[in-house]
Amino acid sequence: MGPTARTRRVPRSATSSPTPISVRVPAREDDLTAAQPVNLLGLDRAALEAHIVAMGERAFRAQQILPWLHQRGVTDFAAMSNIGKALAARLAASAVVTIPEMASEHLSEDGTRKWVLRLADGNAIETVFIPEAERNTLCISSQVGCALDCAFCATAQQGFNRNLTAAEIVGQVWFAEHRLRSERHSPERVISNVVFMGMGEPLLNLKEVGPAIRILLDDLGYGLSRRRVTVSTAGVVPALDRLQEVAPVSLAVSLHAPDDALRDKLVPLNKKYRIAELLGACRRYVAHDARRRVTFEYAMLAGVNDSSAHARALACLLRTVPAKVNLIPFNPFPGTSFERSSDAVIDRFRDILLAAGLVAVTRRTRGDSIRAACGQLAGVVKERTRRVVPIHAS
Ligand code: SF4
Repeated sequence: MGPTARTRRVPRSATSSPTPISVRVPAREDDLTAAQPVNLLGLDRAALEAHIVAMGERAFRAQQILPWLHQRGVTDFAAMSNIGKALAARLAASAVVTIPEMASEHLSEDGTRKWVLRLADGNAIETVFIPEAERNTLCISSQVGCALDCAFCATAQQGFNRNLTAAEIVGQVWFAEHRLRSERHSPERVISNVVFMGMGEPLLNLKEVGPAIRILLDDLGYGLSRRRVTVSTAGVVPALDRLQEVAPVSLAVSLHAPDDALRDKLVPLNKKYRIAELLGACRRYVAHDARRRVTFEYAMLAGVNDSSAHARALACLLRTVPAKVNLIPFNPFPGTSFERSSDAVIDRFRDILLAAGLVAVTRRTRGDSIRAACGQLAGVVKERTRRVVPIHAS
C-alpha cells in the first residue's frame, strides 16, 4: 500500500459508535471487576472444566461448551442445545460471554481492516485483519497501551493503562472471526493466523496471554497450529523461557538495531536485557526443534539504523541464531521525527543480509493509510492519571 492509497471509513450506520470515544472514568479500578460474573471466553479447557465441576456438573460439559463459544459463535447458553436446560440456566446466572464492542471500523484499499474495539472500562484497543492470498492474519493487542516506550512506536506515545484479560484477548479473535463469517454468509473459518503484534508487550502479560493462546490452539477452540500463532516481543528475557513452557508458539523479536548502544535508544528495554542475553534466550527457545527459526523484526529508519555497516553488523550478530529477518519499512505516525528508509536503501540492506547467508525479506506495508500498519496502533488509552488520550480518526 503506497502513501497515496485512499481510505474508506465504514458509514456510521454500520458502526456501533463514532470515534473519538467518550468514556466514563470509574471511581476505582476495583469497581470494574467487583462481583462480575466470569467471562467464559477467557477460560481455556482446563479452567472451564474446573468452573463446570465447581458448579456440580461433570467436566466433559466443558468440551460441549467450547465449540459453541468459539467455533459457532453462540453467546446464548439457552441456544447450546446439547448441554441441557438446567446447566444453561445455571451458566446464565454465573457466567457471561462478553465480546468487545466495535467502536469504529476502517477499511484500506488493500483489504486491510482495522477495528477500534471498546472495552467495558471505556478503554479502546485496536485489532487489524490482513487478508492475503495464502493466509488471513489477525493482529491482536495484549495490553491497553504499552509501557515500554519504543522510540518509533505510536502505541508507546499513548502511555499504559492495564493488561488485557484473556477474555479480552480472545474476544478480539471471536469478534473478527464471526463478523467476517457473517459478512461472507459462510460458516467457513476465516482467520488462519494470529499475531500478537498489536498494542502492548505480550510477554509482560503472560498470565493472560498464556490461556488465550491455549484457546487459540485448542481443537475445540480456534484450532490453530503453533506455527500459525506468533508472539512478538521487545525482549522480555525471563518470560521468553516461560513462554516455551506455557505455549511454545512462533516467536518474533523486535530487534531494530545490531548493537546495544543504538538499541538502547530505540528499544529502552534493551538497557535491562542486553542483546547477547536476548539472543541466548532465542537460541534456547528454538533449541529443541531444528526446523524452527526466530523472526527478527527490523524497522528501517532513514539515517538511523539502515546503513551498510548496520547490515553487516546485523548479519554478524545473527550468525549463531536460527533466524529470519523481516525488514519493515517504517510507518510514520503523527508526532514522530523518524522517516522511512528509501526502497533502494532497504534493498541494499536486504542484499547484504542475503549475501551473508541469512533469510531476509522486506515486509510489504499493509494498512498504513488507516494507521493499521506495524507500530501505528494507538487505540484510546486512559493513562494511570486517568487522562483520556483520544485516537486520531483516520
Ligand atoms: S513496539 Fe511493541 S513493545 Fe515497543 S512500545 Fe510499541 S507496542 Fe510496546
